[in-house]
Amino acid sequence: MRKTLVIGNWKMNGSLAANETLLDALLPAVKGLGGVEIALCPPFPYLSQAGWHLKDSGIALGAQTVNEHDSGAYTGEVSAAMLKELGCRYVLVGHSERRSLYRETDADSAAKFAAAKDAGLVPVLCVGETLAERQAGETEGVVARQVQAVIDALGIAALTDSIIAYEPVWAIGTGETASPEQAQAVHAFIRRLLAEQSEAVAASTPLLYGGSVKADNAATLFAQPDVDGGLVGGAALDADAFALIYQAA
Ligand code: PEP
Repeated sequence: MRKTLVIGNWKMNGSLAANETLLDALLPAVKGLGGVEIALCPPFPYLSQAGWHLKDSGIALGAQTVNEHDSGAYTGEVSAAMLKELGCRYVLVGHSERRSLYRETDADSAAKFAAAKDAGLVPVLCVGETLAERQAGETEGVVARQVQAVIDALGIAALTDSIIAYEPVWAIGTGETASPEQAQAVHAFIRRLLAEQSEAVAASTPLLYGGSVKADNAATLFAQPDVDGGLVGGAALDADAFALIYQAA
């Protein structure tokens, strides 16, 4: 049985005061809803603040990226062990904004994925095609390349206890969402790709959809057989919207 999850990615948003308000509103709104895991990924400086608030709430803590090295002269970077020490359970790897704005490659994603696993974190590997790639009929090729880069580097067993998030780049932060059918088609493709290499990994790996998930489209997206929850950006900054998305899952 795969778990269902909703993960909120705050991106580079928030302040001590704004986070306080958001968390105070969110915690009661999601209390008592069982069966679905929920996690929040604040910016690094707010991990302690969020972790303190989320203690005993049942909501897990995650980070938005991680450095692939254990320690050393990597100014500005944060290691997986540091995230673990701060109470993180999840870490996003290869988010499209990291890939496009900071030129992170498939090989970087594989190295970060490995560092996360080594530290006992659950990596959430983000994959997805740009609009130009979709229009050129390259969606499956791009997604397969991004997933396979991790498998080729680390072996299929490394995907045990990990998560894959399909996030079409054209839907992230644009207000444009993949239709439930488009999302299901790519999720089913990823599931088949995994199954060719391990039936067990394919059956147990949650596949999240991300890309302008909102309160009013979450239920139909999450109703798809291969969509196991969502990775939510903008709507995760609104306690009511995020609680509704969580309820939809
Ligand atoms: C994201 O940042 O992973 C994301 C899906 O953002 P949004 O929900 O705002 O499209």
